[in-house]
Amino acid sequence: RTVYVNGDYVPENEAKVSVFDRGFLFADGVYEVTSVLDGKLVDFAGHCGRLRRSLSELSMNFSVSDDELLAIHRELVSRNGLEEGLVYLQVTRGAADRDFVFPPDDTPATLVLFTQEKSLIDSALAQRGQKIFTVGDHRWSRCDIKTVQLLYPSLAKMEARAKGGDDAWLVRDGLVTEGSSNNAYIVLADGSIVTRDISNFILHGITRKAVLACARKLQMKVVERAFTVEEARHAVEAFSTSASGFVSPVISIDGHEIGDGKPGPVARKLRDVYIEEMRKASI
Ligand code: PLP
Repeated sequence: RTVYVNGDYVPENEAKVSVFDRGFLFADGVYEVTSVLDGKLVDFAGHCGRLRRSLSELSMNFSVSDDELLAIHRELVSRNGLEEGLVYLQVTRGAADRDFVFPPDDTPATLVLFTQEKSLIDSALAQRGQKIFTVGDHRWSRCDIKTVQLLYPSLAKMEARAKGGDDAWLVRDGLVTEGSSNNAYIVLADGSIVTRDISNFILHGITRKAVLACARKLQMKVVERAFTVEEARHAVEAFSTSASGFVSPVISIDGHEIGDGKPGPVARKLRDVYIEEMRKASI
C-alpha cells in the first residue's frame, strides 16, 4: 500500500512518524474516515467541514487547505487503485518534547492518510443484522470532537464481543448516546425514527445528517431526542449509521430480539436510498 505522510507518498513500510508525536503520546489528534464507492469519495465536503471544526475546538494549527486535502485523497485512491473502501486521515499537533503544555504555534502538524480496501455495499453484517449490547458511556464529555482517543470505545466493543454481540451502544444516565463508532437509532410502532439529538455527548455523524435528510425526503417522521435502553429493547426496529457501515440494521439489544429478529424494512429502505443518493453525489 502507498500511504501519505507529511507531503510524501511512500510505501507503508517506509512511512515514518516521530516517537515524540503528540498523537502517539497524548492522543492529541483528530481524524476522519471517508468512504469510497466506484473509486469516488462519499460526502467529502461533510468530512472536511467536521475536520475543521474538530481542529478549531482543539486550537490546532493546520495549514493544508480543503482543495489540497481533496487532491491528496484522490491521489491516494488512484495510487492504490481503490474502488471500494475507506480513506483514513489523521492530523496531530505534531512532534515536540513531551509536555502537557502545547508546543509553539509554528510546530508543524503531522498529517497521515492511508486507504483500506473494504466491501461496503455487500456487507455480511448488514445482511444478517447486528447484535448489540449496551455498555456504560465512560468517555469524556466532548464526544462531538473526533479525536483519536479511542480506547474506551474499543473496550466497549470488546465487552459487547465477549457477550457474543457485534457492537456496543453506549449509555449515559440511562439514555443511549450512540454506538462505539456509529450513531444509534430506533423505530417506534408509529413508524417514527428516533435518534439522539446533537450535543457534546455524541459525534455529529456525517452519515447521520445525510440519512436523516433521506428519511425526511421519504416522508418518514424523524424525532431527535434521547431514548432509554428500555425503549430501545422494545422498539420495532433499530439501526446504526456511519461512513463505513452506511445504514446497518440491528436485530437484538442485550439479548432481546428487535421486531422479528431480522433487519427491518425502514433500515433496509434507508440503506438502499442512502447508497443510491451517495453514489450520485460522490466526487
Ligand atoms: N459516533 C462515533 C462515536 C463515531 O466514531 C462515528 C464514526 O466513526 C460515528 C458516530 C459516525 O460518524 P460518521 O457518520 O461521520 O462516520
